[in-house]
Amino acid sequence: MSSLSRLSGPKVAGELLIDLRGVERSYRVGENEIRALDGIDLEIFSGDYLAITGASGSGKSTLMNILGCLDRPTGGSYRLRGVPAHELEDDTLARLRNEEIGFVFQSFNLLPRLDALGNVEIPLVYGQLKLAERTERARAALDRVGLADRMEHRPNELSGGQCQRVAIARALVSEPSILLADEPTGNLDSRTSEEIMLLFDQLSAGGATVILVTHESGLAAHASKVVHISDGRVVSG
Ligand code: ADP
Ligand code: MG
Repeated sequence: MSSLSRLSGPKVAGELLIDLRGVERSYRVGENEIRALDGIDLEIFSGDYLAITGASGSGKSTLMNILGCLDRPTGGSYRLRGVPAHELEDDTLARLRNEEIGFVFQSFNLLPRLDALGNVEIPLVYGQLKLAERTERARAALDRVGLADRMEHRPNELSGGQCQRVAIARALVSEPSILLADEPTGNLDSRTSEEIMLLFDQLSAGGATVILVTHESGLAAHASKVVHISDGRVVSG
C-alpha cells in the first residue's frame, strides 16, 4: 500500500518514469533456454515520445509486456515511478499496471456488444467513480480522439481506424502515466495508419508519455527518441 500511495502524486514533465537495469527474460523450451531479453538498460522520462523498434523476434513484445507490468523480468530490475515492479506480487503488480499504464494493441480488443462509450467506460468500472462521472470522463476521452459523434456506435458500426480511436480513448480514460502501444497500426491501411500516428503525435504534444513498439521505421520516425533492439539487446538509442 505505502509504496503505491505516492503514485497518485502529480505527474511532472521530465520525471524518471521507467528505469530498467540489466533486464533479462529467458524462456525454457524443452532442454533449451531462450534469452528473449539479454540485459536491457533503459530510462524513459515523463513526456517522452519513444519508439522501440527491431526485427520480428528481437524481443519487442517481451519488453513491452515487462514495461506494461504484464510480466516480470527473470533478471535485473524494473522501477516504475520508483516502485520496484520486479519485486511485486501479482495483485500489487496488477494495481500498478491499472494506475500507470494505458495499453493500445494491434487488434483493438473492443467488446462487440458495447458501444464506444461503454467500451471506454470499462477501465473505470472497478474504481470509486459514480456512473455519471464515468460517463462524463468516457465522453471527454472520446472527444479527445475525435469521436464525439460516434459514442453510441458499436465496433461493427465503426471503421478500423475509428475502432483504434476508441481503444486509444479507453487507454486514456484512467489518465495513465504511460501510453503503451504495440504495433497499433498493424491492422490498418497506410492512410488510416498515418491518421492514427497523427493522433499519437497530438497526444504527445499535449504532454502524454507515449511508447510505441513497431517494426516499421516509417512509424518510428514520428517519435522523438528511437531505441533499436536486436537479439534482446539495445543496439542504439
Ligand atoms: P518480437 O515482438 O520482437 O517479434 P518477441 O518478444 O515476441 O519478439 O520474442 C522474442 C524471442 O523470444 C523470440 O525468439 C521468441 O520466439 C521468444 N519467445 C517469445 N515468447 C515466448 C514464450 N512464451 N516461450 C518461448 N519463447 C518465447
Ligand atoms: Mg511482437
